[in-house]
Amino acid sequence: MRKYSDKHIPVMPKEVVNYLLWKENGIYVDCTVGEGGHARLLAESSPNVFVIGIDIDSEVLQIAEKNLSHFENIALFKSSYTDLPVVLKLMNINKVSGILIDLGISTFQLMGEGRGFTFNKDEPLDMRMNLEQTKTAHEVVNQYSEEKLANIIFQYGEERFSRRIAKKIVENRPINTTLELVEVIKRALPYNEIKKRKRHFATKTFQAIRIEVNSELENIKKFLEIAPDFLEQNGRLAVISFHSLEDRLVKHFFRNDPRIKQIAGPIRPSESEIKSNPRSRSAKLRIAERI
Ligand code: SAM
Repeated sequence: MRKYSDKHIPVMPKEVVNYLLWKENGIYVDCTVGEGGHARLLAESSPNVFVIGIDIDSEVLQIAEKNLSHFENIALFKSSYTDLPVVLKLMNINKVSGILIDLGISTFQLMGEGRGFTFNKDEPLDMRMNLEQTKTAHEVVNQYSEEKLANIIFQYGEERFSRRIAKKIVENRPINTTLELVEVIKRALPYNEIKKRKRHFATKTFQAIRIEVNSELENIKKFLEIAPDFLEQNGRLAVISFHSLEDRLVKHFFRNDPRIKQIAGPIRPSESEIKSNPRSRSAKLRIAERI
């Protein structure tokens, strides 16, 4: 097991439990079980609740297995949430009472050794959530054309200096590690811009590359299309997003899909939650109900 010290704190735990758990003996799917924070709360609520936990990351899932081993009402699967129909078929389940998807990055992925998601440590450029996938951040950074890189950094990072960053990346190839990439981004950005930014100046570019490596927006779109079909009547879908691109997709989907209606959200973490769990600060929770 890779070294990692920080424990993942589930985001908006009370709000998730209050909105999602509408049926005492229901089946609930946590599509991004991560280290098991939300799944534990759902399973703890009643021995009559059954929780199916899914995660694409085999290393994170090992942690969930350890954290949740004493629960008899949880089953875990290594799978993508886009394969929700396959998992439910394996379990012989047609409909469930609630589905949760928490779109952030787990603390293990961020802080665990060698996953290459962080700009705070020097690690090989990886950023894969699915360790069996071949495409890595190294490939995106070193093999994509300048134009493709600029478009990705602009669209997925909402970075207005995308063209300058893409140009510097191409000029400085090969770029092998996270800190090498941070240095290149630093050289591409105007000094005033670096000073002005509230968040780390590499945040947007790192977010863009991570989204590209893991096909995150395509996966969310696929998931939103399939999830309502597996909810029983009044069943609930809870989505936690962490940036505007994700939330925009969810908001439009909840507004326009005839199978569901939004019943709550966007809910933001309280001041005290943000204080005790700063990683929750950009989270938004939306809840929809199956009509
Ligand atoms: N809710 C969890 C908890 O409280 O511990 C944390 C979830 S974490 C923010 C997000 C998780 O989603 C990560 O563990 C990541 O591996 C997983 N993930 C990302 N893409 C996925 C996909 N396509 N299918 C399944 N899981 C995915």
